[in-house]
Amino acid sequence: MPSVTIVDETLETNPNQAMMARFDEAAEKLNLDPGLYKFLRTPNKELTVYIPVVMDDGRLEVFKGYRVQHSIVRGPCKGGIRYSPDVTLDEMKALAAWMTWKCAVVNIPFGGAKGGVICDPSKLSLSELEKITRRYTAEILDIIGPDRDIPAPDINTNEQVMAWIMDTYSMHARRTVSSVVTGKPLGLGGSRGRREATGRGLLFVIQEAAKHLDLKVPRTAVVIQGFGNVGSVAAELLGQAGYRVVAVSDVQGGIHNARGLDIPRVLQHVQKHKTVVGFPEAEPLTNSELLELPCEILIPAATENQITSKNAGRIQARVLCEGANGPTTPQADQILEQRGTFIIPDILANAGGVTASYFEWVQDREGYFWKEELVNERLGEIMVSSFREVVTYAERHRVNNRIAAYMLAIDRVAYHTKLRGIYA
Ligand code: GLU
Repeated sequence: MPSVTIVDETLETNPNQAMMARFDEAAEKLNLDPGLYKFLRTPNKELTVYIPVVMDDGRLEVFKGYRVQHSIVRGPCKGGIRYSPDVTLDEMKALAAWMTWKCAVVNIPFGGAKGGVICDPSKLSLSELEKITRRYTAEILDIIGPDRDIPAPDINTNEQVMAWIMDTYSMHARRTVSSVVTGKPLGLGGSRGRREATGRGLLFVIQEAAKHLDLKVPRTAVVIQGFGNVGSVAAELLGQAGYRVVAVSDVQGGIHNARGLDIPRVLQHVQKHKTVVGFPEAEPLTNSELLELPCEILIPAATENQITSKNAGRIQARVLCEGANGPTTPQADQILEQRGTFIIPDILANAGGVTASYFEWVQDREGYFWKEELVNERLGEIMVSSFREVVTYAERHRVNNRIAAYMLAIDRVAYHTKLRGIYA
């Protein structure tokens, strides 16, 4: 098994290399069997599809998309679909593996997958977006399904996109199959609380961290990068819980008010202007300035590789709670560890979304829908117990929280693999 030497430049730019570096470190600490090491390092399937679409102006365009299934060992594959010009196969491979580890950390019966289409949704009409979604679904139809692989929303996809996937799949199946995707609209078999679940999950683990580190909530300053489905809900819930959210941002830039932002008013501003920028009761700042603000809790809730060897030394937060997948590079981890930053790693911190997706899948299959209080209560139980498990594991094995989460997850998937054996 190769030992981890963190010198490679691509560790800061390629999410798959970044994921593998952590996997290798955890596997080495677990003394993982060399065969299992090879098996768990490799995805189960990688599908590349080409999506022809007649655009609104009559032009025929071809988009490239992927679905990567990393593991089916603990159950059907599970993971989102993102639409972005930055989608690459390596990114999909990393995100699919992260889904496997994430589902194992919170101990839900799924493996991991991820999909994406290389496109810029801000330049597409609704009807072009629908055509891309339906044709992409048709191209990956054979490998998805309620018992095979269950997509969900991710960056630039939402309830409407899930409704189109569900409908396309159902038309081919000649019956309504609501459990083929999660994150659907409520009326189509979605779950109460699913939309807010990733942000609410962040609140649960932050509250546990606050207890663990003895932070005094009313004075605790929070900075959030990203104001999409994860960041905006986290801001709202943390504000309601008494935290002082001092800065938030989106792709266009950030806003800062050291006394605390009035989050309901920021949300109103975003509804009207489609960005946090220009909010009157705050000073503007850039996304990189935002990450370096003095605060107790920093929540990167945007995209990968935001905290790198270049800025990690200037991160002032006591707690780094990763709302995004892969926001911190392995080099940055080392710097943050020296600085004593308490990291709540992505595969634990943002697992609230997939946990509520699991609840949605269960409700669809039962045909019986839960009250929102029950969804939130069960979500809280899972997030709190998973946080405690990871922190206890880290203390017991003298590793940091990230490596503890990977070790816990890899150990669980390895255990299931051994039980099932390898089909030949
Ligand atoms: N896209 C989300 C994630 O990265 C949710 C995945 C899901 O619910 O399947 O965790």
